[in-house]
Amino acid sequence: MTKPAKRIEELRGEIRDHAYRYYVLDDPIVSDGQYDALMSELKELEEQSPDMVTPDSPTQRVGAPIGDLFQPVAHLRPLFSLDNAESADDLTAWEQRLGRALGSDPSGYVCELKIDGLAVVLTYRDGVLATGATRGDGVTGEDITANLRTIESIPLRLLTEDPPTVLEVRGEVYMPEDAFEELNRRQADAGERLFANPRNAAAGSVRQKDPAATADRNVDIWVYQLGLIEGGPELHTHAESLDYMRSLGLRTNPATRSVEDLEGVTEFVTETERDRHQTGYQIDGVVVKLDSLADQEAAGYTSKAPRWAIAYKFPPEEQVTTLKDISINIGRTGAATPFAILEPVFVGGATVSMATLHNQDQVAAKDVRIGDRVVVRRAGDVIPEVVGPVVSARTGKEKVWEMPTECPFCGNPIVRVEGEAVARCTGGFECPSRVREWLFHFSSRGGMDIEHMGYKTIDLLLSKGLISDPADIFTFDPDALLGTEGWGEISVGNLRKAIDGARNRSVARLLTALGIRHVGGTTARLLVRAFGGLPPLMAATEEDISAIEGVGPVIAAGVVEWSSDAANRTLVDSLGEAGVRLYDEMDESVQGDLLVGATFVVSGTVEGFSREEALAAIELRGGKATSSVSGRTTALVVGESPGASKSRKAKELGVPVIDAARFRRVLQEGLAALD
Ligand code: NAD
Repeated sequence: MTKPAKRIEELRGEIRDHAYRYYVLDDPIVSDGQYDALMSELKELEEQSPDMVTPDSPTQRVGAPIGDLFQPVAHLRPLFSLDNAESADDLTAWEQRLGRALGSDPSGYVCELKIDGLAVVLTYRDGVLATGATRGDGVTGEDITANLRTIESIPLRLLTEDPPTVLEVRGEVYMPEDAFEELNRRQADAGERLFANPRNAAAGSVRQKDPAATADRNVDIWVYQLGLIEGGPELHTHAESLDYMRSLGLRTNPATRSVEDLEGVTEFVTETERDRHQTGYQIDGVVVKLDSLADQEAAGYTSKAPRWAIAYKFPPEEQVTTLKDISINIGRTGAATPFAILEPVFVGGATVSMATLHNQDQVAAKDVRIGDRVVVRRAGDVIPEVVGPVVSARTGKEKVWEMPTECPFCGNPIVRVEGEAVARCTGGFECPSRVREWLFHFSSRGGMDIEHMGYKTIDLLLSKGLISDPADIFTFDPDALLGTEGWGEISVGNLRKAIDGARNRSVARLLTALGIRHVGGTTARLLVRAFGGLPPLMAATEEDISAIEGVGPVIAAGVVEWSSDAANRTLVDSLGEAGVRLYDEMDESVQGDLLVGATFVVSGTVEGFSREEALAAIELRGGKATSSVSGRTTALVVGESPGASKSRKAKELGVPVIDAARFRRVLQEGLAALD
């Protein structure tokens, strides 16, 4: 056998094996990205040697073999897969192919979310649900009618007096993210295996022997395609067919947009990718369909996919890799957090070699073992995490991990107090890891926001013995860094400037940076507003503190406990001596009740205010600032580069959207300035 022929055979074997695990067992052992890479390699080899293409090659067939758990159902019309695009160039190439197939320039597309779930087919006869099936190999699917009947949004009878004789529709069954988390929580409590992602959970849920088990799983459906209609209205476009299906009570996705050309498609793709984590369910791309049904028919199908549609796929956010080891980190409160050391893998647009495992209980619940193949997820700005092990890829050599009993940084015991969720290092500030994290938290954006004071600088300053607590940041001489690699006059000057600037941060920010349990930004602002500064707050009793509206006894106790610790008192004194602001001057001209009862959301940078100043200005007047727009929001304040989804939501809900100038008027005149 020639070399390419051998590789082709190998790839086909591997792909078939993975397809079986994915579609039939709902238990894949490689990520979708890795599967797609095998498929692209096979496609490329077959393109180079067209004589080697066989009808049973995975490139020529729709994915799934059929399991034997269910009765087979022959589809009325074959179901297809979709060709993929990954770039604007791919979309243009698709449009050109389409133009050639039609013999004219195509126009008019419908863009839809590509839901990451399981394709199903519903057939209604005289308006009554007759069968529900999986896609299977495209010609024959599995009969899962009894299971699908338990999904409440699937109408058992269409909402019409005059149903078509036969209606066959296609849709995607999926599991919303909160239902997925809830399911995994239940699985963990029952000591059962956790699902790797919502797609597997949804597929596993509708392919249950017992329909009651499906009913318990909170899966849902988006219907996206009319497959066949007999004895119904004449339809001319895909958009019309979606409206028609909606009118029959079938659940179609509202985030669908008709556009004229590829420019409109690209806009939809860009917006959808940016907001992809705000839908509440997983999507892995956008599906673009030619709108005219006559043109669809003229364009026709390849052996595997319609020519009139294409799936624009987003870069994968999950990959499978090897877990080489588990280590722990000691946080600023002493909490020991396990993290995974991985065989580096490219996922979500970056190479990842470490990922969080959250806490000890999660490692146990997910049963992640050293040496396992694991699914790693990196989605948006969220830090990479290990989702779970690929149990079926185990060799038996994997090792169960246990929390070390001694801190690897300071040698003190690690102890988990009964009833506490985490184990902690008992070394206090003897522990260098804890000190490092403390300094990082203090300087970070959520704290004093000192530019150039990231882990790298902190490590350097610690190793040189220049700092050991937050007050030292304001007293050490940055010139001591001159001559160290990477530190010249300019960078030292920048660091000095950043530190000097931080001396005058608001007291609320300082309070947040100090990291008192339960005291985040909003509470800190309330406390500072009530007491005017840190020293009076530290002298206050639990009673004084919990008398403030919005501050409960737990917070009050936390503040008092923190304040009564001598080390903290010394620290605050040293910060004061180092010129850090400890008091906020009260602005007497502000009317403290001007905005009572009003709730604002601030999006983007409002001219003339730091984010924190904008929030403080609202709260100082008795108003509330929250982070998401709802029906209760009084107004959305938008600055430069606001979030598009917030503005959209505000418009949908009829919430006024105001700019910096109007915001300033509201702060002076109150809500009347909104009219
Ligand atoms: P596909 O994901 O390329 O696209 C077709 C499917 O998209 C349809 O069948 C339908 O289920 C879905 N879809 C979602 N929203 C839609 C919409 N609005 N309109 C039309 N269709 C919509 O199809 P495929 O053939 O199932 O491709 C296989 C996918 O499964 C790939 O992502 C592949 O990586 C994955 N897979 C993974 C493994 C593995 O081992 N990890 C194995 C096999 C397949």
